[in-house]
Amino acid sequence: MPKMFDQWRARSPHYSDSHEAWAMAVRRFVEKEVTPNIDRWEREGQLPRELHRKAAAVGILGLGFPEQYGGTSEGIDQFHGLVSGAELANVGAGGLLAGLMVHGVALPPILAMGSSAMKERVATGVLSGEKIMALAVTEPSGGSDVAALRTRAEKRGDRYVVNGSKTFITSGMRADYYVVAVRTGEAGPRGISLMLLEKGMQGFSQTSLEKMGWHCSDTATLYFEDVEVPVENLIGPEGGAFRGLMANFNGDRLGIASASAAFSMVCLEEALDWARERETFGRKLNQNQAIRHKFAEMSRQIFATQAWVDRACDAVMRGIDDAGEIALLKIQGTRTLEYCAREAAQILGGASYMRGGKIERIYREVRANAIAGGSEEIMLDLAARQLGYT
Ligand SMILES: Cc1cc2nc3c(=O)[nH]c(=O)nc-3n(C[C@H](O)[C@H](O)[C@H](O)COP(=O)(O)OP(=O)(O)OC[C@H]3O[C@@H](n4cnc5c(N)ncnc54)[C@H](O)[C@@H]3O)c2cc1C
Repeated sequence: MPKMFDQWRARSPHYSDSHEAWAMAVRRFVEKEVTPNIDRWEREGQLPRELHRKAAAVGILGLGFPEQYGGTSEGIDQFHGLVSGAELANVGAGGLLAGLMVHGVALPPILAMGSSAMKERVATGVLSGEKIMALAVTEPSGGSDVAALRTRAEKRGDRYVVNGSKTFITSGMRADYYVVAVRTGEAGPRGISLMLLEKGMQGFSQTSLEKMGWHCSDTATLYFEDVEVPVENLIGPEGGAFRGLMANFNGDRLGIASASAAFSMVCLEEALDWARERETFGRKLNQNQAIRHKFAEMSRQIFATQAWVDRACDAVMRGIDDAGEIALLKIQGTRTLEYCAREAAQILGGASYMRGGKIERIYREVRANAIAGGSEEIMLDLAARQLGYT
């Protein structure tokens, strides 16, 4: 029987031979470079820098980014990006996507608003895999209410002096470049700016955080104590942070929904392989209606989520910017994942609870997808307001 993972593109009108060829290229990369090592990286708590260079060489890091900085944009559309994410998700370790691809949200604000010199230096280094980036918005006092952030940057001559802290920052230990949201002015969203901070700046330190899942993606709290940042490191105008961050939101949430559909397919396939082999009461597990129906129900939710992902991606490509719908889609994706991870774990029984399998890992990773990039409550409320339910 062909696997769902290998079928869904053929059933959607949005995928061409080019997407299929790209999927196979990423799959070969995953099989050669990731699958043999992922358990060790999970234990070690981070991805090796070498992986970034190798992913850059295949074209994964630069996909969709401008050619002048080492990216590939000719003949590339957003479905190629979804395909990369899905193939990276196939290994069943969300930390891979988070740790390897965080430049997907950290770099766009620089490309949209940074100076030419900054774009050249940062984008070229990151897309070649030589440098690692992080995006630092969330603070110990809260992440949902971005407009209330407290980290301050005071202008003194040709420098800003930054004081404050950020937390839960993906790649926060390994990064060379940090796009940091800071308050440069009045209370509220108009007083927030983006600034490039660099590893090694005096007064800038990081401590590592341990997490429930995403173990191979390092996560950190950042501390800024009188960090002097040259004014050239301001990204865009003072007070322009929201413009830079907003550019990210839809793509990031669409990506999480798409990856959640892919992780859900992994759950289904792993559980199906198990149920076809495992015998209880004298017959294979999947011969029981109660178990078969779990697969049918998982499929129902995955098909609906994937169809919505494809439709939303198509709308984004046609310039339709519907943040409310994409917020709902993120919830749809992570609820589907939550359901599939639960049911797959139930089908594996005790084996699902033992360290080392894909299901055990994905089960621990569900909340990272449902909280990071905009939590369910915040997404629902955004959608309610955008759809006019106020
Ligand atoms: C694995 C992981 C990686 C992350 N990586 C990054 C990163 O790279 N960079 C970065 O900046 N951040 C990162 N984050 C942080 C993430 O964006 C925040 O956790 C998220 O925005 C929520 O913020 P918070 O955790 O401070 O929760 P809070 O804002 O304190 O909210 C707590 C809970 O209350 C709910 N809530 C809040 N306000 C309301 C309200 N008005 N009505 C109803 N419910 C409400 C929220 O939905 C949430 O469930 C990461 C988080 C995780 C878990």
